Amino acid sequence: MSDHYERVKIELQQMKEVENEAAADGEQLSPASVSSIPAEVSFTARRDLSRSSVNGRSRSKSRSKADGHERQVNDKELPDPTAQKSNSSQGQSRVSNEPNLHIKGTARLLKGKTAANGHVETCVRQTDGKCEHHGKEDGSKAAKKRRAVTVDTSKAKTSLEALKMSIRQLKWKEFPIGRRTACDIYWHGVSFHDNENIVSGQVNKFPAGMIEMLRKINLSRAVRTMQQLFPEEYNFYPRSWILPEEYQLFSTQIRLLKDNDSTLKPTYIVKPDSGSQGDGIYLIRDPADLRVISGAQIKQAVVQDYIQKPLLIDKLKFDIRLYVLVRSLEPLEIYIAKEGLSRFCTEPYQEPSQKNLSHVFMHLTNYSLNVHSGNFVHSDSCSTGSKRTFSSILYRLASKGVDIKKVWSDIIALVIKTVIALVPELKVYYQADIPPGKPGPTCFQILGFDILLMKNLKPILLEVNANPSMRIEHEHEVSPGVFEYVPSPVDEEVKVGVIRDTLRLMDPAQRKQHATSNTGGGSPEEAIVVETGSDEKEGMADSLPSLCLKQVFPKYTKQFHYLRVVERIAAIFLRFLGVKGTMRLGPTSFRTFIRNCKLSNSSFSMASADILYIDITRRWAGMLPDSREAGMCLQAFIEAFFYLAARRFKALPLREQVVLLLEVCEGALEGQSHSEKPRTHRSHTHPNPASSQTSAPTTFSSPALTRRRQRPLQLSAKANTEN
Ligand code: ADP
Repeated sequence: MSDHYERVKIELQQMKEVENEAAADGEQLSPASVSSIPAEVSFTARRDLSRSSVNGRSRSKSRSKADGHERQVNDKELPDPTAQKSNSSQGQSRVSNEPNLHIKGTARLLKGKTAANGHVETCVRQTDGKCEHHGKEDGSKAAKKRRAVTVDTSKAKTSLEALKMSIRQLKWKEFPIGRRTACDIYWHGVSFHDNENIVSGQVNKFPAGMIEMLRKINLSRAVRTMQQLFPEEYNFYPRSWILPEEYQLFSTQIRLLKDNDSTLKPTYIVKPDSGSQGDGIYLIRDPADLRVISGAQIKQAVVQDYIQKPLLIDKLKFDIRLYVLVRSLEPLEIYIAKEGLSRFCTEPYQEPSQKNLSHVFMHLTNYSLNVHSGNFVHSDSCSTGSKRTFSSILYRLASKGVDIKKVWSDIIALVIKTVIALVPELKVYYQADIPPGKPGPTCFQILGFDILLMKNLKPILLEVNANPSMRIEHEHEVSPGVFEYVPSPVDEEVKVGVIRDTLRLMDPAQRKQHATSNTGGGSPEEAIVVETGSDEKEGMADSLPSLCLKQVFPKYTKQFHYLRVVERIAAIFLRFLGVKGTMRLGPTSFRTFIRNCKLSNSSFSMASADILYIDITRRWAGMLPDSREAGMCLQAFIEAFFYLAARRFKALPLREQVVLLLEVCEGALEGQSHSEKPRTHRSHTHPNPASSQTSAPTTFSSPALTRRRQRPLQLSAKANTEN
């Protein structure tokens, strides 16, 4: 216990120092800005200060759902009928003794080694899955000499608790109510626009596009485009139909399937486009059961093949939440957290039947749903209960002889391929708002990947969450209507590590040193073998634990670069879009594209180009009813490009047709660039991955893109303001 009080004293001292320094700097905000601070910020800050002494104190609280990722817990915990119960509901007492748990590399966990560091506490898993603490704060002289990195936490909302812990571990400087002068890093709970007045530094959200792109329909469309080109590579995403536009197609395909084999009883899962936390999701076995209409409105949704044979643990279905940091879009930099969460169903799994289709606790793994089940187990152990660490699952699989390196490398490949599918459209979003020559903050974002392991261990992508919950406590109803927040050790272990190491990677000093020379050629399989790559140690204060975030791109560029074909199409689209703040190509620009790329000839006249433009644009306008802009969107342009490629290079597979047409277009455009300004080098992405280049795929860029590349980071605040 004395150790514990020592720690609390240090924490209090640090908080005081931060406050004093902030006061000395005259950095408090005006009353107006203070009043805009959400109530929960000050509440949590206070609680954080006195955390160890008041943890678990009951209070009646109006709960905020500001980030849309937390749900009220109304049900009282019922006695647990399962064997896991022994560990449940201990979080409160555990936490009052053990306020901090921190992450370490999965590979280390699996090898049972202890992280060798002493700067912060580290969690060492024993074989029984219990977490223990080792290490003490000893600080680093080098870190002390440096100016502390400043972090504005005033908009962190439900991430605040984990963020505060991370900042303390890093010995950085927190500004809980904002700062008059600029901070190095701004942490937003919901969106880039949580604070509109940022002109420099770094923000943990991309301004536009990411949330849009990760809606279920848009994600399905982006992955489907890649499936057309690379069906084998993108078979990790279930076959999906977009409603309402593909209702007829879905019905016809299912009827044909059943007519051919009447013994088949496939099941489908229907997900509302903008839903989350399992809201509105249901299973069907017949297209007639689709609830397409709600009131007078046709519902937008995705209907998907239901994965009938998931991997089970303790007879329960579970999914994996992995945290992925997109550190930069241009050049593309992706990191994956070595540790994640596994979220369990609370009713033993059975393959779908007409009888059990509505059993959500059996089929849906969402925490927000299962927490309402009497069987939900809050555990203080990382390897039991209804929410566990992913490494505890891997540990268990490894003990049964499963090749977990293969599981990891498949997951890494899934993540990289998914991000590659999203990037083209994201780039279009950014170009739409580039401020001519104005400086602004740069952006990064943590995404939550939800992955299901099939019985044969193949990972399946369920969805990507643009705003994954970073809350590290759960609500506990102590008496009717009275809730307390009880720290969740598993969430704390995983999420504090992710936030802390994201901050380390975004450390302005670190970013300056960071060279993207690591275009690597390693296989993703090395990800689990190599505990800490050189990229992860580069410039890091050596007294901190090795990073729990593992760089996977550009590290594995060689294996995945050949997939970046759509990005090259997007680069052409952007070039003809210009910099007028639009995301749609007009008919004249489309004509210019056809002419400049020399795509018209005796068999494809300019009149045919006009008809193609009108046909495709009209159809996409029907599919995107909410769109305010007229013209051809990127997806429609890609469709037109595929059409032109198929016309010109008949009899070849689509992927080769597209790559060949890209070379025609890029060649023609480069010729024009040469005549305008001599260029010395051009690299092509070749259809053969073996001969692919590791350089950025966008050989040609619009002036805007070029401008963006000249800046160290790719985005600016204004660039992301909606028109
Ligand atoms: P939400 O955003 O509402 O959580 P998800 O796409 O994550 O929507 O789906 C909710 C849950 O449904 C998942 O956590 C998973 O348990 C289950 N699920 C989703 N898609 C499938 C699928 N294709 N096959 C089997 N289970 C699925």
